[in-house]
Amino acid sequence: MSAPILRKLTDLRAATAGWKRAGESIGVVPTMGALHDGHLSLVAAAKAACDRVVVTIFVNPKQFNSPEDLAKYPRTEEADAAKLAPYGVDAIYVPDPDQIYPEGFATTVSVSGLTDVMEGACRPGHFDGVATVVAKLFLQTAADRAYFGEKDYQQMMLVTRMAQDLDIPITVIGCPTVREPSGLAMSSRNMRLSADGLERAGRLYPVMQQVAERLAAGASFGDLAPAAREALGAAGFGDIEYFDLRAADSLRALDRPTESARLLVAAWLDGVRLIDNIAVPQLND
Ligand code: AMP
Repeated sequence: MSAPILRKLTDLRAATAGWKRAGESIGVVPTMGALHDGHLSLVAAAKAACDRVVVTIFVNPKQFNSPEDLAKYPRTEEADAAKLAPYGVDAIYVPDPDQIYPEGFATTVSVSGLTDVMEGACRPGHFDGVATVVAKLFLQTAADRAYFGEKDYQQMMLVTRMAQDLDIPITVIGCPTVREPSGLAMSSRNMRLSADGLERAGRLYPVMQQVAERLAAGASFGDLAPAAREALGAAGFGDIEYFDLRAADSLRALDRPTESARLLVAAWLDGVRLIDNIAVPQLND
């Protein structure tokens, strides 16, 4: 049965208040819609661990860097509801814009440090937009657990920090990246690639895996990065905004995975900005 679509905060609060009174746990899966199997894996994880699950769909204008990107973002509410139907979620919260940003809204949640690099450096204001909307969604849903994808690794770190710093009583749970058979991380943005672009985008993951394997064998990132960038260029990736090896917890730049580490990349292919990251095995001392 399809879940009710709630567009008003009062309706969401009425539902969650009843669940709380009954002592039921609530999981939330925040999304911007255009749902794919990556999103649905988060829904499945939430369903497995929580009594009640709310999926939120809100294309958040504050986290887009350009009006064109915001306008181009796919909006597929009916198809999204159909994809969610088999999961038996309890509510789909699709807030009207004024339920998130009412007239006179003047507050920004900003997380420092973690947001200075990579996505934060390349997309000014993006993470303030994310932190602000996610703080609101955490408080509006009153969820006990929130499910985020490792696909957006830095975002997952940021929302974890934000909830801790603001004493929002919610546990952020990270879920593995779901990939196409080629290895390409699923993303709503992949829809904008041509068949040829999709095939070339599939080169990204093997290049990252190869770098991770060589790092695990003792090579330095400084030595490996130029050839990896060249391989991406040959596959048709244009501007590589960052291609970094970083500590998994602090996001400090590393040259060798002497601690738990991630390899993270953002690059453009055929006018589409793709991001991905993978874990890098830690070197033994
Ligand atoms: P979005 O709708 O793109 O804002 O993403 C909503 C949530 O789904 C975020 O927590 C993303 O990290 C997560 N997500 C997006 N793509 C994937 C994927 N391929 N695998 C796992 N999670 C994903």
